[in-house]
Amino acid sequence: SWGNLSDKSAYDWSSEEEEPDGRARPVQVLVVKDDHSFELDEAALSRILLSEEVRDREVVAISVAGAFRKGKSFLMDFMLRYMYNQASEDWLGEPDEPLTGFSWRGGSERETTGIQIWSEVFLVDKPDGRKVAVLLMDTQGTFDSQSTLRDSATVFALSTMISSMQVYNISQNVQEDDLQHLQLFTEYGRLAMEETFLKPFQSMIFLVRDWSFPYEFTYGQEGGMQFLEKRLKISENQHEELQNVRKHIHSCFTNISCFLMPHPGLKVATNPHFDGRLKEIDREFINNLQVLVPWLLSPRNLDVKEINGNNITCRGLVEYFKAYIKIYQG
Ligand code: GDP
Ligand code: MG
Repeated sequence: SWGNLSDKSAYDWSSEEEEPDGRARPVQVLVVKDDHSFELDEAALSRILLSEEVRDREVVAISVAGAFRKGKSFLMDFMLRYMYNQASEDWLGEPDEPLTGFSWRGGSERETTGIQIWSEVFLVDKPDGRKVAVLLMDTQGTFDSQSTLRDSATVFALSTMISSMQVYNISQNVQEDDLQHLQLFTEYGRLAMEETFLKPFQSMIFLVRDWSFPYEFTYGQEGGMQFLEKRLKISENQHEELQNVRKHIHSCFTNISCFLMPHPGLKVATNPHFDGRLKEIDREFINNLQVLVPWLLSPRNLDVKEINGNNITCRGLVEYFKAYIKIYQG
């Protein structure tokens, strides 16, 4: 119809963020500014989520969140490789291929507290025959002062409310700090939920990077679950505050799980010229990547975003995004 046509051309015409060659790229949709105000790029969000192919599809929204410089974008780039090579056993790619995607732009953009989404929304056939739209979000905070902690909490809360799966990327261990931050984040989220009568959040995955006690708890999801159970256990001799953090986290998410990742090796961690090629990454890390990424993203494991028990489409997600932002803008 004419309506559709004009719609589409309007988006194409205004897509200033797009590469000249039309290649997909990360797009900053939410920025936290220096004065702690939020800015949502509604045009960019709409251009991506309201494109004709995806807007009426049910959406699976996957978010990775946590502090800067902890390997989030690095991981997301492997998630992208998986999404672009769904049908292939060799989705990891060639040993010499540089890694591209979220980290591709590098520079100052990565310092921004906020949310980036991948400009291409992936259509995936689930085993039950449904075709769903998969959105990847890279979000980050600073966590280093009271005021930036509040910004980070809001970004974390928003991305948790918008996603069907939140991957909480943390370094080395699950510290009491990480749990306290999570409590703060989810309290911000609940604040909004109470006003809009929303159900609790969906899946939370603690992703522990550089795990260095594989002899206590093995790498991967099973070891992770055992570790997390111990870490989140509530016992009577615990300080009340510690008990409350744990109760709160349990009450917020439908599913909580954990994955322990090994260290990727010194080239990844310290070489400034490392460009992501597989042959310079420790084998143990790659082996676990080959478990982690399909565990997160294989078609049967993709859960559609639900709000108040309703499945949400890409179009619906844009509306919720705008509504949630308003709540935090007060
Ligand atoms: P982000 O700010 O969380 O998105 O972090 P980046 O993905 O940009 O990675 C920051 C730095 O950490 C880069 O130099 C990566 O090569 C390195 N890195 C990536 N993954 C890991 C990891 O699992 N462990 C360690 N120690 N470093 C990593
Ligand atoms: Mg990053």
